[in-house]
Amino acid sequence: MTAPLVVVSGPSGVGKSTVVQEVLKQAPDVWLSVSATTRAARPGEVHGEHYFFLSQEEFDALVAAGELLEWATFAGNSYGTPRGPVDERRDQGVPVVLEIELFGARQVREADPGARLVFLAPPSWEVLEGRLRGRGTESEQAVAARLEAALVEMAAQGEFHEVVVNTDVETAAQTLVGFLHDNTPR
Ligand code: 5GP
Repeated sequence: MTAPLVVVSGPSGVGKSTVVQEVLKQAPDVWLSVSATTRAARPGEVHGEHYFFLSQEEFDALVAAGELLEWATFAGNSYGTPRGPVDERRDQGVPVVLEIELFGARQVREADPGARLVFLAPPSWEVLEGRLRGRGTESEQAVAARLEAALVEMAAQGEFHEVVVNTDVETAAQTLVGFLHDNTPR
């Protein structure tokens, strides 16, 4: 039996990364997939740890070879989940968590109906906008693109198996750990 696959999605700025890092702290047995992206590394991001930072040509080659479980374009860059490492971990009984955007989550739902799709929602739109602007690492144009994407993502909550409101990081993470440790067949 393969271990659970939990997909965490939700608008940029909702705190997906913070919650997922807290999940790894609470449940060290869980493995977080490392995505490929064509986006430039932010200060402090490490190749192979936060992302595999690839050229568009390298990314397209992975797509063509069928090596991505899912992939999508987000705010002008390509992002995708390498398939092999996810399958390997799950076959070894290791629960896997993906932190990806909406279009990728939909592809995982099609590819693996057993995957559990979780939408991480902000307590309110105002909180989300504040977080996105407050991050300060992005140009005004990039913030606008992320806000627009966030509107689309917020409208898709109903497509997910679970909606978890990120009012409190520890509580939201606990709920996710519960899903990752739930081995009942789906
Ligand atoms: P960021 O550039 O802020 O790291 O990520 C932008 C968006 O891309 C976030 O919503 C993040 O969850 C999503 N993302 C990261 N990796 C992947 C991936 O492998 N596939 C998809 N579809 N989205 C991803």
